[in-house]
Formats: sequence, structure tokens, C-alpha cells
Amino acid sequence: MNAHNKPNTPVLDSYWMPFTANRQFKAAPRLLASAEGMHYTSVDGRRILDGTAGLWCVNAGHGRRQIAAAVERQLSTMDFAPSFQMGHPIAFDFAERLAEIAPGPAGAKLDRVFFTGSGSESVDTALKIALAYQRAIGQGTRTRLIGRERGYHGVGFGGISVGGILNNRRVFPQLPGSDHLRHTHDLARNAFVKGQPEHGADLADDLERLVALHGAETIAACIVEPVAGSTGVLIPPKGYLERLRAICDKHGILLIFDEVITGFGRLGAAFATDYFGVTPDLVTTAKGLTNGAIPMGAVFASRKVHDAMMQGPESQIELFHGYTYSGHPAACAAGIATLDIYRDEGLMTRAAELQEDWHEAMHSLRGLPHVIDIRTIGLIAGIELKSRDGAPGARAYDVFVDCFEKGLLIRVTGDIIAFSPPLIVEKQQFGEIVSILGDALKRVQ
Ligand code: PMP
Repeated sequence: MNAHNKPNTPVLDSYWMPFTANRQFKAAPRLLASAEGMHYTSVDGRRILDGTAGLWCVNAGHGRRQIAAAVERQLSTMDFAPSFQMGHPIAFDFAERLAEIAPGPAGAKLDRVFFTGSGSESVDTALKIALAYQRAIGQGTRTRLIGRERGYHGVGFGGISVGGILNNRRVFPQLPGSDHLRHTHDLARNAFVKGQPEHGADLADDLERLVALHGAETIAACIVEPVAGSTGVLIPPKGYLERLRAICDKHGILLIFDEVITGFGRLGAAFATDYFGVTPDLVTTAKGLTNGAIPMGAVFASRKVHDAMMQGPESQIELFHGYTYSGHPAACAAGIATLDIYRDEGLMTRAAELQEDWHEAMHSLRGLPHVIDIRTIGLIAGIELKSRDGAPGARAYDVFVDCFEKGLLIRVTGDIIAFSPPLIVEKQQFGEIVSILGDALKRVQ
């Protein structure tokens, strides 16, 4: 089917699209053809400002020749090499480079790196490392994994079990024993806050309640996104992450930060771990790791976790886990080139310099039709709309379509609009975003 018989529109039948209402999309497709800097170009030749860094991943902006050249060089030198009981230098080199900027304070960085192929794989890897670690230290009864309501941790069975999205869980079975903290979203007390809200640190005590309910000796790990992104930009209340860390320490529970979105400069520090000054035991990443250019993820582990796993007989595989594409040479090449760009252009801290103007710009949308909350941190924003009666998500979807037609890519989840522009964004583009979105909000019913 080429529904519109438009030039450059491919036949749409065969591709079963992910997380998409396929029939609705194919009736009115939105297709992107090229990308450069802050912009996409659609197949019909329109320039579209990228307000979302693709899917929270193109932190250094689009069309980076340095990354393309590094990938090309690597593919023509060695396209693939096995990583099981074999190695290739570029994977070790990339891990060493990542260790230099790893999350955590100097002297206690999480500088042991396990490569995966995506965010979902990073999450399931981290959960498995947590279970294997507990077993390795003689705590094999700890098999329970704790997540949080409204958490998004990808689509693997581990990730959907600790995640807290109904639609993601409804159809699929969950890992036995997984349980959840309440989410921290509280419009009544925390609406229209710039940065971390004041109220809600006590919600971390939910973990104490789960310990009282299940017994600490059954709980292996607790995983949260420091800032929940995909479920609508939920920013941790002041003191919340600190409290979670303290409760985990008290009860021998590993703390995992899912930094698939917040990693690599999104908040103005390399990692949310550093931004908030709270150090977990494991950090999951993907997306900005390779600027989205080649699929890849990485799990950062503390020395404590890593070293405890290195105790058995030397001939024994310490972690019975890995992927064909773990440490893929082309992905490592893309990753090293990406880190070079972040360093040379100062992008890891650029969000810190821009955030005040960004927050001002976003909060200037307060008072426009339908807007019931605006939340901002680093170079992220969430704008929550009042749902249309009986049709949750419909209003934000209409805004999304309107913005796309007017040249702005936004992301919507339910009735929340999320922004995460590439870190190369210029201040004057904040105005453009506000203007296109503001007009859309006035237009939609
Ligand atoms: N964790 C978090 C926090 C995410 O935001 C995402 C993706 N948005 C994932 C995991 C899953 O990553 P992927 O889609 O690469 O599997």
C-alpha cells in the first residue's frame, strides 16, 4: 500500500512497526528522510526541528561525520568478531574510555563495563548481575526484584516485570516476586516546579514497607530511573534518591539506576548519578552511548559487585550471560567517536549552562490552554495536559501531529509532552519550540 501515492513514500505493508498504532500510522504516515544537526527532513522535504533527540538518544545532534567515518573504518577493518572467549581491542579501548567518565565519585566509580545491544538488554543484564551477585556472596535467597510504578525499563521480561506500565504488562507474564514502590508524581503538591520538587522524599520508605512485607532476605535489587522519562518526566523529590540509597544499604539490597535516558549529559553531568550525588551499585545505559548511531547499551558495575563475581575457579565463566553483539566492533567505534565529540565540544556539561534558559522557556507555556503541569530538569521537560473526557492521550496526540506538520518533533506519552533536545541546541531554538507548541495548544480542542 502506498496510501497517498506521494513521491518518496514507500510501500508500507510489510513493516510491523514497534510501539505504533500501525493502521492509524499507515493511513497518514509521517516519514523522515534525512537528518543534520538539530533537524530532520521529511520525505516531502520539510525541515523538522528535533525536540526529542530522536528517541532521547542523539545527544550530539544528527549527521556527525566523525561517527560515520569511525564506523566505516571499523567495518572495513573488521566487521565482526566474537566476544565469547575471544576479544578485540576496540571493545577494551571503549570500556577504558567509559571507565574514565564512569558514574560515581572519584575513587568509587562504577568502572566495570558490560556491553549489551540496547536499553532493554542493559536492564535485563543489570537485573541478572544483581541476582548472580547476591548468590555469589551467599545470599541466594534474594531473588526478588523491586521496581516502581510508572517506571519504564524496556521490554524484556525482566524490564516489564520491574516496570510499572499497565499496557506493557497486561498481556505478558511477570517475573515471580517482583514488586513496586509507588511513583512520585504528585500534581496536588508539586505542580509547575523547576528542578526537583519539595514533596515526596518519604515515598522512598515504600522500600522499607516491602522489606517488612517480604523480608530483606528475599530482595536482590531495587531499580529506578533517577528521572523517569518515558512515562512522562517524573523528577525525583529532594532527598528521595538519598533515602532509597540508605534503605538499600541498611538491608543489603543492590540499587540500580536506569540511566538509559539520563546518561551522557542529559542533566548537565555525565550521569544522573553524579548530578544527584547518589551512587547506585549498577547503572544501565544505551541511547547516548553511541549517539543513537549504532544500537548499543552498557551496564556500569561497581568494583564491589564486579569483584565479588570474580572469586570462583579461574576456568569458570563468572557471569553466564552475554549477547552475540556485546561489544560489537562497529558500535564500539561509534561509541569512542561519540565520547570524543562529547569531550571536545563540552556537551556533557552543556545542559547545565542551558538549563536556566530552557526552564524559563518551557515554563512560559504556563497558562496556555490544557496545560496542567510543567516539569523541567537539565535539558528535559514534561508538559502535562488535561485529558480530553473519555479519551486519554487523544489531546496530546493531536498536539504531536500538529507540531509535526508545523516543523517540530515532540514526544507524547499519554497526555504528557516530553522534550529532550540534542545537547547542541541553541538558545534561540527554545523560542521556536515554544512558539510552535504554543500555537498547537491554542489550536487543539
Ligand atoms: N530504560 C529506560 C529508562 C528507557 O528510557 C528505555 C527506552 N526509552 C529503555 C530502558 C529501553 O531501551 P531500548 O528501547 O533501547 O531497549
